[in-house]
Amino acid sequence: MKNIYANFVDGIGNTPLIKLKGPSEKTNCNIYGKAEFLNPGGSVKDRAAWAIIKDAEQKKLISKGGIIVEGTAGNTGIGLTLIGNSRGYKTIIVMPETQTQEKKDTLKSIGADLRLVPAKPYKDPNNYVKYSSRLAEELKKKNSKGVFWANQFDNIANYKGHYETTGQEIWGQTEGKIDAFICSSGTGGTIAGVGTALKEKNKNIKIVLSDPKGSSLYNHIKNGELKSEGNSITEGIGSSRVTKNFGQAPIDDAYSINDTDALSVLFELLEKEGLNLGTSSGINIAGAMKLAENLGPNKTIVTVLCDTSDKYRSKMFNKKFLTDKGLPFPKWL
Ligand code: PMP
Repeated sequence: MKNIYANFVDGIGNTPLIKLKGPSEKTNCNIYGKAEFLNPGGSVKDRAAWAIIKDAEQKKLISKGGIIVEGTAGNTGIGLTLIGNSRGYKTIIVMPETQTQEKKDTLKSIGADLRLVPAKPYKDPNNYVKYSSRLAEELKKKNSKGVFWANQFDNIANYKGHYETTGQEIWGQTEGKIDAFICSSGTGGTIAGVGTALKEKNKNIKIVLSDPKGSSLYNHIKNGELKSEGNSITEGIGSSRVTKNFGQAPIDDAYSINDTDALSVLFELLEKEGLNLGTSSGINIAGAMKLAENLGPNKTIVTVLCDTSDKYRSKMFNKKFLTDKGLPFPKWL
C-alpha cells in the first residue's frame, strides 16, 4: 500500500469507525465510535482548525509570517498551532487557566504563545473568547502579513469542514445504514456539520445532542430555554449560548449526561476494550447508550471518540480528586 502524505495536514480526517463492543452488547444495538483521537494533533478539533485555516487562506486573510489568534479550551489550539507551524504562521492561544496542566504543557511545548486568563462567563468582557478577539484586533495594527482571529465558535467554516469531511465519511463507512448520530457540543461544529450531512442523505436519521451537566444546551433543545443545572469535570464541551455553528445543527432530541455515567463507561472501555478516551467521549458514549435503549434493539448509532485521556490524566486518574467529587475511579488505581 502506498500511503505517503505530502504534509502532515493530509493526515487529518479519514478516521475509522470502531465498534464499541460493551456498549453495543448491553443495548443490543450497534454502537460505533468515530476514532477522531487518531488525527495528527490527537483530537477531532484538527478538522475544525484545518477547515478554518483553509478558509482564511482562500479569503486571503492570512499569509506566511502572519499570526493566528484563538480562544480555546485546548484542542483547537493544538490543531491550529501544529497546522500553523507547517504553514508558516505564529499562533497565540488564549485559554482559561482552569484547564488541565497537561493541555497547557502541550501547547507550550509545540510552540504556541500561550496566554492564560481567569475563567469568566461569556457575558463578561474578559471571557477568554472575547479577550482573544480584542487581542487579535490590537495585533492587526502592527502586522502586515495578516492577524487572523480563528473564532471557532461563530466562524461557520468550522461546521462546513465537518459537513464536507466527517459527515460524508460516516455516511460512506456505514453505507447509509445508520439510524442515529449523537455527540456533545463545544462550538457545535461537529454536530452541525455531521447532522446537516446525514439529514441531507436521509432525513430519518436522528441527530441527538449529548450534553454534560452545567451546559444550557439540553434545556435549550428540550424547552427552548438556555438554562443549566449542576456541573461537570469534562472539558471542551457544553455551552451557555447558541453559537453560529450550533445554530446550524438539525437536532431532534437531547440527553443530559452526568459525569458518573460518563466516567464509568470510559473506565470500562479502557479496562475491557483497550480504548483510552477523554472525558467528552464518555459523555458521547453514555448518551449513545441511552439513545440505543430508547430507540430499541438492532439500531446502528454512531458517536465521536474526540480524544484520548492523556490530556486529562490529572483529573481522570486522580483518585483523591474523583472521590472528593463523589465520582467513580478506575479500580486499578
Ligand atoms: N470534545 C473535545 C475533547 C473537544 O475539545 C471539543 C471541542 N472543544 C469537543 C468535544 C466538541 O466539538 P465541537 O467544538 O465540534 O462541538
